[in-house]
Amino acid sequence: MSIDFSAFIAGQPVTGNGPAQPVINPATEETLAAIPEAGVDLVDRAAQAARIAFEDGRWHGKSVEERQAMLRRIADVIDAASDELSAIETANTGIPLSQAKARHIARAGHNFRFFADYIGQAAGRIYDQAPDHMTLVRRQPVGVAGLIAPWNAPVALGAMKIAGAIAFGNSCIIKPSEQAPLGVHKLVELIHRAGLPEGVVNLVSGRGAVTGDALVRHPEVDLVSFTGGTTTGRAIMSAAGQMLKPSTMELGGKSANIIFDSADFDQAVDGALLGIFTNNGQQCLAGSRILVQRSIADRFITAFLERVARLRIGSPLDAGTELGPVASSAHRDRILSYADTARREGMQILAGGRAHSGFDKGFYLEPTVALTDDPGATVCREEIFGPFATILLFDTPDDAFRIANATRFGLVSYVWTQDIYLALRAQEELQSGVVWINTPMMRELRAPFGGWKESGVGAEGGLDCEAFYTRQKTITLARHPLALRRMGTA
Ligand code: NAD
Repeated sequence: MSIDFSAFIAGQPVTGNGPAQPVINPATEETLAAIPEAGVDLVDRAAQAARIAFEDGRWHGKSVEERQAMLRRIADVIDAASDELSAIETANTGIPLSQAKARHIARAGHNFRFFADYIGQAAGRIYDQAPDHMTLVRRQPVGVAGLIAPWNAPVALGAMKIAGAIAFGNSCIIKPSEQAPLGVHKLVELIHRAGLPEGVVNLVSGRGAVTGDALVRHPEVDLVSFTGGTTTGRAIMSAAGQMLKPSTMELGGKSANIIFDSADFDQAVDGALLGIFTNNGQQCLAGSRILVQRSIADRFITAFLERVARLRIGSPLDAGTELGPVASSAHRDRILSYADTARREGMQILAGGRAHSGFDKGFYLEPTVALTDDPGATVCREEIFGPFATILLFDTPDDAFRIANATRFGLVSYVWTQDIYLALRAQEELQSGVVWINTPMMRELRAPFGGWKESGVGAEGGLDCEAFYTRQKTITLARHPLALRRMGTA
């Protein structure tokens, strides 16, 4: 089956007649597909299909064991298709194939297994303190979830949303990014190959302002789960709020990676490189502001730059590639404009800051490192979302926490120290939804992952997804025949 359909509705691929959206390989600049956009009509059909699948109970009416078995079967099918799925993801995003396979596609399968395990243990509550009554609190699926995903990790993030939504019995409609939809198209096809009932997972492809907006506003869509930029999140949350639809927002970041002089130096250098250059630098959780204690700054900067100079930049298909192209020509130009801004604001560019000259085709950049004393500089404030690290120096832990918190974002903080008391103080002081101490990018699915401040509203994780994708119902029963007040007997 070809994967350039516009929508996948009730188990069938559908081609729309909206304007064709080109899908480009960022490494070769080849056009991989031109997908006719799913317009309002297809969004409506997808929403109706999801509603019918929900209302007739073809999925949430199954026993938990049946749903667990299906989620695990989906995971197995994803694992079995790992080579094909990672090749598609790499072609569409420029993410090095080794990272796509080991991190993204492996995570996609894992997400389904995680939720299969979770639902087998989920429990309600009972309040039995009242002498005459017993009250049960249970959760039921909400209905139809609208899921909107970004381009930087389409399959892994899309799978997290789909798995979370359907595990608890909902139907869903996913809208991948128009820039990188192909992996999610394949994922939805694989989910059906595993045997999920038709209409439970549907897909619509197209631009945010057209397809995405229609999805958020569709009256049959009960919930919205969004991952993407903060500006987009604001618009989506307002539209959803107007209709009183619950929404979760996983948004941008400008995370501080704090390296104290008490750190294991080599680990901190390794962690700082991984934090900013993994996924071609395009990660919401990137450690893009590297805060280094002044006493070790010279040593750290020398070691960091030496390693940056040796990063293997190349085709995402080469096994040794550590840094591939960024996602699009527009995105490359946007990242480069930040290098210009940094120069204009008088910052030192210690490495990079230019398009890479070694490639005829592809949106390759030199990995960039800039140094400043000004936490208010534009490149310290705005999310660049590319292989662009900013180094800031600090003297005391108080300075470090003040600089780290001086941002409108609050997704993640990284801390490197072997001083246990300093680590404990850091986790207390840092204003972010996640704090990683002496480890980079450890995503514990059981725990919430969500941003503070403008990095998000709500979170993903076991309990958090259960809370979002289900609604509570309180049932109160009499424990014995009650002496009811008898009206109308006077
Ligand atoms: P984006 O906000 O431009 O787009 C994200 C998705 O929203 C796309 O599918 C897009 O088509 C859709 N969209 C755009 N406008 C819309 C509208 N008005 N209504 C409905 N849908 C609309 O983000 P992007 O450029 O694809 O991704 C990069 C951003 O995502 C970065 O800011 C990054 O930090 C963020 N991100 C956050 C997390 C997290 O977990 N916090 C994870 C990954 C990426």
